Amino acid sequence: MISRPLYLQRYYRVMGDELPAQFLVSRSVGVCFDKEAPLDELWGIHEDAMERFRDKLGNTGSVDELTFCDGTSLLDLKVAIADRILTECHFCERRCGINRRKKETGYCGIEAISRYSAEFMHHGEEPELVPSHTIFFTGCNFSCVYCQNWEISTSPGMGHPVLPGELARTITLRRAYGSRNVNFVTPTPHTHVILKVLNALNKNVPVVWNSNMYYSQEVARLLEGIVDVYLGDFRYGNDECAMRYSNAPDYMKTVTRNFRTAYESGEILLRHLVLPNHIECCTRPIVLWTKENIPKVRFNLMFQYAPHYRAFEFTEINRRLTQDECQKAIAIVKEAGLPDVLL
Ligand code: SF4
Repeated sequence: MISRPLYLQRYYRVMGDELPAQFLVSRSVGVCFDKEAPLDELWGIHEDAMERFRDKLGNTGSVDELTFCDGTSLLDLKVAIADRILTECHFCERRCGINRRKKETGYCGIEAISRYSAEFMHHGEEPELVPSHTIFFTGCNFSCVYCQNWEISTSPGMGHPVLPGELARTITLRRAYGSRNVNFVTPTPHTHVILKVLNALNKNVPVVWNSNMYYSQEVARLLEGIVDVYLGDFRYGNDECAMRYSNAPDYMKTVTRNFRTAYESGEILLRHLVLPNHIECCTRPIVLWTKENIPKVRFNLMFQYAPHYRAFEFTEINRRLTQDECQKAIAIVKEAGLPDVLL
């Protein structure tokens, strides 16, 4: 028998239907609220309900022990709050403040309707996740100059519009055919729709939030009680590199804050894509920060960087990694003594 690694313990139990996914526990917490109430009031109710959610999460055994509410639930409340955020969008740290319901668009260019370019059983993710039912949303709140999915990330109007009930049925089918999880890719600008999909889903399945971790504090609060595994990119070890290659202000403050919160409320599979010529300025500080702050994570050092999209405009990253760079990155991780790193 293969022994389970120390990280992602709860994930494995949800995957095996021994424990309920967090979103199902949220659906079992009853909450009374008026959708039209001021946002501050809704957040206050959310705070109280989360206390009950945490109690329940720690004390619930099997999925069968859960009883869904007759009235409105904590997940309904999260949907209502997300819908409100959409009208002065601050799903991510750019905090554009525009009303996406009125077809206004901010930095990501995404309106209120969410679209996805593909959904399938992905066998190319980390071994713990595959087969992973992966749903690729279009548009992005980053603009990485080396983006390998740039056709999708720069075309928010492309793809199939998401109908929550329909996507929930597809997730149920994929689970029946053996998916280990549902994996939402580039999810942050689509938070409102993903919550609705989960509210329509009556199947136990671990939820994977596959993101750049550049979401707002408000979204972090909504994700507790929803996300089982944060599949988070940690790209840059300083703000200058984040601005130069992804045009992302306040990167370090935002991403480290969100990793810390995720560490408290779920499990983390951290991805670090090593960039050419960025071992000392990015790889090393990321490894050291992880070791210092969130040591019990599955840390995936990735070497598959290739210069896509506009990378040719940046000489220092316009090539693949050298053997020497890969060895240096591995040595940094080993020296730091991060546990459970698969290299
Ligand atoms: S998701 Fe982020 S980038 Fe897109 S409109 Fe909202 S705040 Fe702006």
